[in-house]
Amino acid sequence: MDSPAAARTGTLIVGAGATGLATAAALSERGDADYLVLEADREIGGWCKTVKKDGFVWDYSGHFFHFKRPAIEQWLRDRMPGQRIRVVDKKSFIAFGGTRVDFPFQKNIHQLPQADFIECLHDLYFARSSDVKRDPAPETNFLEMLHARFGKGICDRFLVPYNEKLYACDLSTLDKDAMGRFFPHADLTDIVRNMKQADNASYNATFTYPEGGAIEYIKALASAVRPGGIALGERLVAVDLGRKVARTTSREIRFERLVSSAPFDRFASICALDHDPATWDYNKVLVFNLGFDRKGQQGVNWTYYPSRDTVFYRVGWYDNIFDTDRMSLYVEIGFPKDAAIDVPATRERVLRDLEREGLVTGQRLVAEHSVVLDPAYVHITARSLAEHRRLASRLADARVWSIGRYGGWTYCSIEDNIVEARALVASWK
Ligand SMILES: Cc1cc2nc3c(=O)[nH]c(=O)nc-3n(C[C@H](O)[C@H](O)[C@H](O)COP(=O)(O)OP(=O)(O)OC[C@H]3O[C@@H](n4cnc5c(N)ncnc54)[C@H](O)[C@@H]3O)c2cc1C
Repeated sequence: MDSPAAARTGTLIVGAGATGLATAAALSERGDADYLVLEADREIGGWCKTVKKDGFVWDYSGHFFHFKRPAIEQWLRDRMPGQRIRVVDKKSFIAFGGTRVDFPFQKNIHQLPQADFIECLHDLYFARSSDVKRDPAPETNFLEMLHARFGKGICDRFLVPYNEKLYACDLSTLDKDAMGRFFPHADLTDIVRNMKQADNASYNATFTYPEGGAIEYIKALASAVRPGGIALGERLVAVDLGRKVARTTSREIRFERLVSSAPFDRFASICALDHDPATWDYNKVLVFNLGFDRKGQQGVNWTYYPSRDTVFYRVGWYDNIFDTDRMSLYVEIGFPKDAAIDVPATRERVLRDLEREGLVTGQRLVAEHSVVLDPAYVHITARSLAEHRRLASRLADARVWSIGRYGGWTYCSIEDNIVEARALVASWK
């Protein structure tokens, strides 16, 4: 596939989502304009796109931001002139048996009906108490971690059914740290203390959201990319690692370095790496964005639905962020990676369940949009971690890196994507 006529670039970047654009921006900032971003889609943004329809502003799925590094947030804001950014105190709940409990569930079991509370507390105590568990068994997977730390009562009522709906898999196949810092850990003392003095702080106790939607942060990254630096509608289809030549849907490109944010299962095949495709499991998330003619519930940003009787695992309210007077929902449903998704049938089920759960009480649906995020949450397993490490080291020998939420086969936010991209560029001498 090497030909003298091939185009060339110093750094070939695959994907114009948060990761690819942050990589390009970092190169620009150090005065290196010798790069090209390839994007298969006709638009930038990856999963961080925003849809605007009939006066509603929706992301591909609810994207809310909780920056840990003020310098990164400021860098983005400096590139968003005129964009109003809302800062919201998060109000999130878990729907439980016709009522609701503050998030996180495990810290608010005292809000449950008494019989449920007693069972959760009893099982939590005997799972956690050092009086009883002097020599706890090691937690070898996500399901064992949940049971060992929270007990059967909390697991059965929320942690297991909710995460099974989200991940659409057997939780014992996931690594015990599959959610990393995004899992709201709490110990027995935290939980008991919270019964008298609420402290439901989590990694995103407040969040920011631009009035133009999440795409505004992506546009801020793109503003630092050199003019002509992004090739839209051009897909990477093959990489010859030895010759350092990429083949796209329209040409061949020689590169010195390559950074990919494409899903790793697909990128490994693109690079013809010897790997077992069964290593890479993940879920797909079907998102319905729904606009109604008038307001619904207030004082809530999103609610988790652990019940298996309800098709969705989470619903969020954009109108309560924007303070607008028409209910604007996103509704998320998890599926296994191989599921054939019947979107119209699921839509009917969603509309029925929204009424049954009391979210839609006579409001009329006036606008809608749906998208399948494929992949959405990768399944981080002992095997995926080991295999990604092995293949990443093989790629690095050819000066090729696979990073980002899907390239790195991990669970992370767009801030993490920016941090990782900057660190990679800074590591190049
Ligand atoms: C349901 C859900 C909710 C989330 N909520 C939040 C949130 O609230 N806050 C937050 O910070 N993060 C959130 N995230 C995470 C956030 O979406 C990701 O961290 C971020 O979008 C990942 O960006 P990326 O560039 O790594 O990957 P992507 O966004 O997947 O971008 C990769 C790009 O590569 C392109 N591509 C793929 N293959 C090829 C190819 N062969 N050739 C050329 N181009 C290719 C794709 O078209 C895509 O544009 C959420 C994710 C999900 C799934």
